[in-house]
Amino acid sequence: MINLQDLDQDQRIAAAAPRGPVCILAGAGTGKTRTITYRIANLIDQGFISPNRVLAVTFTARAAGEMRHRLNLMGIGGVQARTFHAAARRQLSYFWPQVAGNLRWTLLDNKFPLVGRAMRGAGMESGTDKVRDVLGEIEWAKASLISAEQYPEKLGLRTPPAPAEKVAEVYARYERMKTTEDGVLLDFDDLLLHTAGALENSPAVAEEFREQYRSFTVDEYQDVTPLQQRVLEAWLGERDDLTVVGDANQTIYSFTGATPDYLLNFSRTYDNATVVKLQRDYRSTPQITSLANTVISQARGRAAGTRLELQGIRPAGPEPEFSAFDDETTEAREVAGRILTLIDSGVPASGIAVLYRINAQSAVFEQALADAGIVYQVRGGEGFFNRAEIKQSISQLVRASQRDVDDSDLLRLVRRTLVPLGLSAEEPEGARERERWQSLTAFVELVEELLTATPGLDLEGLLQKLRQRAEAKHPPTMEGVTLASLHAAKGLEWDAVFLVGLVDSTLPISHAIKAGDEAIEEERRLFYVGVTRAREHLFCSWSLARQEGGRKSRKRSRFLDGIVVDLPAEHGRARSTRAKNCRSCGRPLVSPAEKVIGRCGQCPSTADEDTFEELRTWRNSIARDDNVPAYVVFSNATLMALAETRPGDENELLNVPGVGPMKIEKYGRELLRILGGHPQAG
Ligand code: ATP
Ligand code: MG
Repeated sequence: MINLQDLDQDQRIAAAAPRGPVCILAGAGTGKTRTITYRIANLIDQGFISPNRVLAVTFTARAAGEMRHRLNLMGIGGVQARTFHAAARRQLSYFWPQVAGNLRWTLLDNKFPLVGRAMRGAGMESGTDKVRDVLGEIEWAKASLISAEQYPEKLGLRTPPAPAEKVAEVYARYERMKTTEDGVLLDFDDLLLHTAGALENSPAVAEEFREQYRSFTVDEYQDVTPLQQRVLEAWLGERDDLTVVGDANQTIYSFTGATPDYLLNFSRTYDNATVVKLQRDYRSTPQITSLANTVISQARGRAAGTRLELQGIRPAGPEPEFSAFDDETTEAREVAGRILTLIDSGVPASGIAVLYRINAQSAVFEQALADAGIVYQVRGGEGFFNRAEIKQSISQLVRASQRDVDDSDLLRLVRRTLVPLGLSAEEPEGARERERWQSLTAFVELVEELLTATPGLDLEGLLQKLRQRAEAKHPPTMEGVTLASLHAAKGLEWDAVFLVGLVDSTLPISHAIKAGDEAIEEERRLFYVGVTRAREHLFCSWSLARQEGGRKSRKRSRFLDGIVVDLPAEHGRARSTRAKNCRSCGRPLVSPAEKVIGRCGQCPSTADEDTFEELRTWRNSIARDDNVPAYVVFSNATLMALAETRPGDENELLNVPGVGPMKIEKYGRELLRILGGHPQAG
């Protein structure tokens, strides 16, 4: 039974709208996915359409599974919920004979070798990273409906990894190479292209398809590519039974050609569309939505024009926490410790996620979780031991063991073996080289640790230990903590989220910084996606050096500017805290003085003047006695904060910026006397 009472009023308008164009344009956690699921269920339940006439497009296979599951729980079976690619693949398999006769086609799921060959054919060097970069360009062009000939002129602000004409030549060669004597090879984008083509060019195919599928929904519509949009339009033909939902602020796949334009223009394309905006955030506590609003309020560009303020309607929860650590190992260890505490307090492991920018970052966290005995699974990327470079490292070591090498200095042997795979002394520049280098370094660190734990270990023994580790770390069935990249976390939610490695040049990632403002804005949205995955607990962390004892040259992510303030280091531990909002009006505080006082310049002071004056006179006399400038004792801003917040004991004093343990020891009693000696200002 479908109960639309489970939805709020705005959600219900979208879910109950008659068949026809509907657009939900709303922020994270406002129930977009829930609403389309109810809409599908309701249309079916009311007899407007039968389940097998509905095609629901989701962003990932996992989301498709989840939607089918939710529909099943509501007693609705038989709805096709798929990704664009999976839907196209199925349709093409079915229609192919009608459009291509007995020409054979095979899915090309690894384009890499072919692009490598095309590059060599074009006289280019074809190292792994170069191939990957050129491949990225070909994928972008195909998703953007840009042909090889058009590529150089349609580049826009993109910086190609090689001269544009060269990339275009490789692209053209690659396309030609897919036609072989045995038939054609189709990559994933070809599946979409040919599906659209079959519907556009063959009236019989179009008629049969449109007879079958009559109602369409697309989730995460802000990240649709021109190619996917073309498929969608081919599916629809002249019809308009289409529901789309999305959030322009969560556009995080522009680099692949995705664009929020179709979402933002929807009501212009369909002037009879029902357009619904949702504001209430059902997922996250007000503490988290407030942070999310601050993050996205700093966004620039097109998506920023559709700013949607989230209203947290859940009961209050803990403030988001911000921590800086000396190095990554410490960061990972502390995160693992916090996770244990959360699990002890009753949060299920499956309700916890550690999210990072690039998959290579998972290594150190996998290590720390394994050491702490926490079950986890890696989503999106592969686990550490499944990474190509780690598999290569191990197989090179196996080869070495067969050659009877000298393993008296095992660590040195391992390092030497890894050099040809990309282990250099210095961290390399490019994002991909860096990712691999980080994996390899993590591998050497793991070896180092195993050698310390078992002195006298030989190569054979080391390989055995590595195999054990690899197996122990992948408990196949247990539900554990999720490790995932921010990209893979889209649409999902957890009780507790750890956003880790928030270092400038990781988030925003270095190649985005090089590429400029638009790319940086996409990174900011990625951060926003991360923040909005959390229901209740949010921990943001970063480390100042990569390795233990390393130079602390890293800076925290620029996206934390104005959100956290760095406190002076204490006991060797870097400290940070959440920036405050104005005590009176709630606006984020900007200037250093405002932050100290805890109130913005526009709001009137809540201090009583006598207290402030007495504090000032007292401070000035101490400064005179000690022969130091007045601000060395206490700044005016700190005095104002004291007068306005009126701390009643030493602990409360410590909460005032500018008051530390030393100052409490020296002046604490005197301060409390002055503050206690005046009545609270009205
Ligand atoms: P995202 O932008 O991250 O994809 P979304 O808008 O799709 O988010 P959902 O995942 O549909 O949001 O919903 C977020 C959470 O809020 C889910 O746990 C959902 O069950 C819950 N929720 C949504 N609407 C309601 C409601 N009216 N009453 C109670 N819970 C709700
Ligand atoms: Mg969603």
